[in-house]
Parts: sequence; structure tokens; C-alpha cells
Amino acid sequence: MRIEFLFSNNSFLDHSSSQEPPTTTHKQTNNCTMVSTDIECTQSKPPKPRRIAIVGGGGISGLQTIRALRARGFNVTAYEGSDKVGGIWKSNYSNFSVQVPRVLFEFQDFPMSEIGWNDYATGVQVQHYIEAYAVKFDLLDSIQFNAYVTSVKLQPDHQSWSVEVTVQNKKHVEQFDYVIIASGLYSGTNQFIPNWTGKEYFRGEIVHSCQFYDASVAKDKRVVVIGGGKSAVDIAVEAAVHKAAKVTLMPREMHWPSPRILLGLIRTHSILMSRLGLSLVCSQSGSFPTDSIVSTRSRLLGMLTTPLYKLYGMVVAWQFNLRGKLYPRTEVMRDFYNIHYSVNNDLTNMRKEGKVDLIVGEIDEFQKDGSTLALKDGSTLSADLVVSATGFHENYSFFDNPQKMLNIEDDGVYMYRFMLPQNIPNLAFIGHVNAVSNIGCYGLQAEWLARYLAGDLVEEVTPEKIKRDIERRKSWARNFMPKSKVRGMTILLHETHYWDVLLMDMGLSPYRKSNIFAEYIMPYGPSDYNGIIGMPKPKKIYRRSFWYAQA
Ligand SMILES: Cc1cc2nc3c(=O)[nH]c(=O)nc-3n(C[C@H](O)[C@H](O)[C@H](O)COP(=O)(O)OP(=O)(O)OC[C@H]3O[C@@H](n4cnc5c(N)ncnc54)[C@H](O)[C@@H]3O)c2cc1C
Repeated sequence: MRIEFLFSNNSFLDHSSSQEPPTTTHKQTNNCTMVSTDIECTQSKPPKPRRIAIVGGGGISGLQTIRALRARGFNVTAYEGSDKVGGIWKSNYSNFSVQVPRVLFEFQDFPMSEIGWNDYATGVQVQHYIEAYAVKFDLLDSIQFNAYVTSVKLQPDHQSWSVEVTVQNKKHVEQFDYVIIASGLYSGTNQFIPNWTGKEYFRGEIVHSCQFYDASVAKDKRVVVIGGGKSAVDIAVEAAVHKAAKVTLMPREMHWPSPRILLGLIRTHSILMSRLGLSLVCSQSGSFPTDSIVSTRSRLLGMLTTPLYKLYGMVVAWQFNLRGKLYPRTEVMRDFYNIHYSVNNDLTNMRKEGKVDLIVGEIDEFQKDGSTLALKDGSTLSADLVVSATGFHENYSFFDNPQKMLNIEDDGVYMYRFMLPQNIPNLAFIGHVNAVSNIGCYGLQAEWLARYLAGDLVEEVTPEKIKRDIERRKSWARNFMPKSKVRGMTILLHETHYWDVLLMDMGLSPYRKSNIFAEYIMPYGPSDYNGIIGMPKPKKIYRRSFWYAQA
């Protein structure tokens, strides 16, 4: 559900390009003022774009964006670098699956049960489901497949973009009024493997987690899996199932797992995604984005809920047998925003049976004998296969100078509503947010963006509003989320509040349940937003309540 930046000290973007954005001095264009090299542009009133390009049309972000834009009559061309839809679900490590139950991983108005899949679908099932979605909503004819976008450049008029696309090694350039980036945060092309000292001596194999397609390669081998997230846990279990001689799972630091079912009794997601659960989260973190009324209430609640979190941590540690060095150090709620993974009991059972060894450690170097890994604590491990489940880095290399253009900070990119970069006209991102239910989140983002471009939001998005929103979220996130390269793109447990804000921007009530009891107790998921895509602007506008943070 989120990028596993466990070991990344490297830059997570391609900053190699030295090209600067074009320079003009104090020139006022339609929406932009150029001051020296700094572009000051508003995203406030985009002229209704006639031609829109989507970079990465085949994933769940791209597909939902195509659908929402077309429903509002836009002309869309989506470029997909691979030969079919699915994005990361096309292929990944052996036996990969979703982390959350079906109700959190389905398109808003296309229940997964419609094609027969149940809870915790496998990767292959999700792939079929995405293909079925593209066919059901007739999206394929808006996508050019095998068309990889290699460059996206703002034109000198600062209103249009030229998009360079490579098809069968041939490049061609097309002009667009608006560009939407939906190229994904977890793309297989952006794998991150640490540059370990001495790895050239290793006689075994080092692979990234998403290349661990065939678990039978683990048979009779000493396998070391580096990482502490969901893919690391899955791969350690898979290697043991496929009769590895020895499996060691080695995170650098222990993180709290979320049990799918707490103590065999309650589905954890039901707690986390309900408004009641969210108020427990806000009691520790402040609401999204915090304001004085809510944060005072939250602070008061926080005093009451801190012991509850401690108790929750103790229960989870007991359920997963995490003692001593394996007891995570970070406070459980904060850690959710660090590395979060949701698991069943397979790993715990394998550990009990002695099939997987879980240790906390970090590789110092690969030794010259070709099979020994020296760890930072002075101990050693022998290995024939090292699987690096160390996540991905973002790839914005199609921009000339992404660092400057997107104002990428140490903790990521902060955009208005996680979609509009601050100073760049006619550009948006869909799917650049880490959520619990990414699929539902990207669907609502797509609809918000379509309404924004059609002029169907309730209020104008002014540059002041963009600035204020970004500043507030920065201080809110930095106040409680652990620092990471993706903090600016992280919403996770506050997802329902984010959805509320998007809905209120559209003039719709965020309260989607049938009665007040369900509103607070029942978890929110994509199906609660069924029917929103393509719905006309409401005649009666919902006004946000006193209790809501001003976004
Ligand atoms: C093992 C695993 C389990 C997960 N479990 C969950 C879960 O339980 N719940 C959840 O919400 N999320 C989960 N996720 C996160 C998942 O990544 C997202 O839910 C979602 O699939 C991302 O979709 P996307 O469309 O944004 O990106 P992607 O699926 O990466 O799609 C991006 C598309 O853009 C294309 N592309 C990229 N660059 C270019 C370019 N320059 N030119 C043209 N095309 C390009 C790619 O080929 C790809 O098809 C999981 C991820 C993994 C790996």
C-alpha cells in the first residue's frame, strides 16, 4: 500500500537533467508570470482543455481518469508503455496479492464480486478484474499501447505541452492543452536496490522483489530477503513454501504489521476505515488538514486514546510473536505512516515451524568468499539468493528538471489535493498518493479533476488557496508523520477525510451512509461513492459543517 523506502538514501528521482525551465522576465501570460527562472502560474481557471494527454493509461489511475474525463466530454489520449492494461498487476512477484479486503480494493461502481472474486484477491485475479473494467466501460480505444512517454515539455506559451512518445523505437511529438501524469508510484521500471559494498563478489543472485516471479528458484537455496514490508514478508513465506534450504527475513527496523483479523475476532480495516476509527486516529494526529476546533478536540481525545493504542500494540505484538528486538520501537499509529503492511498469520506460523528466521539487521558488505553477507552488528549470514524488497523510487524523468519544477522536498512533493502542483499550469497527477484504498482514492481524484477541468467544482481553485492548503498540510504532516521520502504523498488512515474534502469541493455531502449509526461505525470504501463518476454538478450544494476543517 505504500512505497517501501526502507533503505533508500539515494535520490529517488532522476535529477540528472540540467535543463532549466525556459526563462523570461516579468512576463504576464494568461495564467503565468515569469520572474527570472521561476514560473509563477495559477491552476485557478484552466481554459477548458481541448486535448488532454494521460501519461500511463493502463493502470487503475489512468483508466479511471479516462473514464471520468470522457464522461464530461473531454478528448483524451492516454499513452501506455506496455501492451495491456493492469499496471503493476500485470506481473509481479510470485503469488502476490492485495493487502486489503475486497471492499477496499474495488472500483466504485464495479464490485469485484460481479466477476466472482472474493476477499484478498490474488494479483492474477486483480489483473482480470482491471481488464474487465476497461472493457465494461469501453476505455480501450482511448489508449495507445506500447507507447512510452519519454519527454513532457511545457511550451513557451506556458499553456500547452509537447509530449514525446516512443513507439517501436521511433519518437514522435504531439501537442496537448493539458497533461495528466498517472504513471504510478510502484512501477516495475523504478525498482530500488541498494548499492551494497562488495556485491560484485557475490556468486549467488541478487534480485528485486518484483523480479521474484518464480519461487521455485528458491529451492535448496539459502535465501535472504531484505525489507520489512508486505512484499518482503510474502516472499519469505513463498521461498519457505518452495523448500528453500534456509530463509532469513531481515528488515532494518521492525514495523508494526496490521493483522487482517485482530485476535481472530475483528477485521482491522473495519476499525480503521470507519469514522469512529478515524476519530481515534485523529486523536493522535490531528484531522486532515488540522484546524483549531478539530485539533483541540483531538488533543483532548488523544489523552484518552494513548493507552488504547498501547494496548493495541501489545495485542498485535502478542498475535505476531514480536518480542525483544522484534518489538517495533516506533509508536504504533505513527509507524502506520512509515512502513505499513497488512498480513495474515503465515509468517508467524512459518517462524514457529522454524522455516523462516526473522532478524533485525542491515548489510554492511558482501564478503570476498562470494556467499557471506557481513552485517552492521558484526554478525554474518550465508546466502545463495538475496531478494531486495526495498521498494521503488519515483520516476519523473520525462520532465526536464523535475526537482525544481515540482518543488520536490526531502519528504516528497506536496500538491494541492495531492493532484495539482503549485506553480505549473495545465498539469495534474492522479495516483500520487499513498492510501489504504488506492483504487477508491484514485477514482475520486479522477472525478474531482474532471469536474475541475469542466468548471464544475463549487469554488474556484485560486493560487492563494493552493498555497494555503499546501502549507497547512505540510505542517500537519510534518507534525506527526515520521519523515520519509513520500510523506508529501501520504494520506493513509486519513483517507476518508481526504475523500470528504474532495466531495465537498464537488458540492456533495461526504456522509454517504444510510443512518447515523452506520455513518460512524461502518467502514468507508469505494462502493460508498458509487454513481459519482460522470454525475452532473449538483443543483443543491452541500455546505461543509462547522466541525469540518477548512480545506
Ligand atoms: C504487491 C502489491 C500489493 C498491493 N496491494 C494494494 C492494496 O491492497 N491496496 C491498495 O490500495 N493498493 C495496493 N497496492 C498498490 C498499487 O500499486 C495501487 O493500488 C495501484 O495498482 C497503482 O496503480 P497506478 O495506475 O497508479 O499505477 P501502475 O499500476 O504502476 O500503472 C501505471 C501505468 O503507467 C505506465 N507508465 C509508466 N510510465 C510510463 C511512461 N513514461 N509512458 C507510458 N506509460 C507509462 C505503466 O506501464 C503502467 O501501466 C499494491 C501494490 C503491490 C505491488
